[in-house]
Amino acid sequence: MTLVIDNIGLLVTNSDEHGDGVLGVRRDVALVIHGETVQAIEPCGVAGDTRIDAAGRCVIPGFVDSHTHLVFAGDRGDEFVARMAGAPYQAGGILTTVAATRGASTAELQRGVAARRAEARRNGITSIEIKSGYGLTVDDEHRLLEVAAGETADTTLLAAHVVPPEFAGRADDYVELICGEMLDAVAGTCRWVDAFCEQGAFDADQCRAVLTAAAARGLGTRLHANQLGHGPGVQLAVELGCASADHCTYLSDADIEALAASPNRTVATFLPATDFSTRQPYPDARRVIDAGATVALATNCNPGSSYTSSMAFCIALAVRDMRMTIEEAMRAATVGGAAALQRPELGRLVPGSPADAAVLDAPSYTHLVYRPGMQLVALTVERGVIA
Ligand SMILES: [Zn+2]
Repeated sequence: MTLVIDNIGLLVTNSDEHGDGVLGVRRDVALVIHGETVQAIEPCGVAGDTRIDAAGRCVIPGFVDSHTHLVFAGDRGDEFVARMAGAPYQAGGILTTVAATRGASTAELQRGVAARRAEARRNGITSIEIKSGYGLTVDDEHRLLEVAAGETADTTLLAAHVVPPEFAGRADDYVELICGEMLDAVAGTCRWVDAFCEQGAFDADQCRAVLTAAAARGLGTRLHANQLGHGPGVQLAVELGCASADHCTYLSDADIEALAASPNRTVATFLPATDFSTRQPYPDARRVIDAGATVALATNCNPGSSYTSSMAFCIALAVRDMRMTIEEAMRAATVGGAAALQRPELGRLVPGSPADAAVLDAPSYTHLVYRPGMQLVALTVERGVIA
């Protein structure tokens, strides 16, 4: 089966071998998709079994969202309202969602994740990472990972999200549980292991223990770092060779140097919708990019600190408030996310790439920033299927 997206006014390939400039743009072309894969970029008017008429609009690679917490139950709207009235964001709010999630049936969790995954797809997200982290027992974390695995291969154990109430005052005992019994139980159900390195969550030694135990089992690692203040997270992520250090809201010069020089190319993943929703300052992406580090943008979709799956919103914030160019933000949301997930085949539209694309209701990707808050994703194609 061949699917043709015809009459594309502006195609972003993200490859300078296949187009112009940093986004590799082509004008007035057709994208030919065979099965799940991009086959060719042709002049307009090429034949296919199914044809989408882009009518001069812009087509971009599907977004790669490398950081979400989609498996949860309950709602924290009241906490958001209180925060907007002046209450500070605290890591402990996660426990509200833990209680609701533990009490939810697996079928209920599956319905919630499927609905949020569909919402993300409507926003042009074609690849997604999904974390556990609201179960915090061996059985519940395993259950959440199984639910996540129904939607993506990029599942992440985030048992080190917050210390559960039954381990209050005994964080080290909980870390020992994660490093032993829990990892033994879930290692076959996750690709990644993550930890929340922050005051009120876990300290550097505890995070190091969790991620070292994960790496010893052959799992990839990532870290929530420097979200609410300066701390050891970013440099720990680089030291351990994590795929990404996520948040990076508070960065010292030494943190930026470490990211830029990291032997494993640890990606700095910015989550600006979180800084928006928690009324935090935005990260200084300009310094990080200028230093030469690899950066990504992700939604961090979760019920407490960033309840959105709009990558367009994240891109708009990155340009407006983090001093990224529109082209840098577009790349961070596509090939940047792919780097953070160590899936280099994602985020491009060139022959041989997975056929993941979004048709925009706009003549250019610049409208994602120029027209904030608008639903500009007209159609999403995921692995060659119109979603
Ligand atoms: Zn997160």
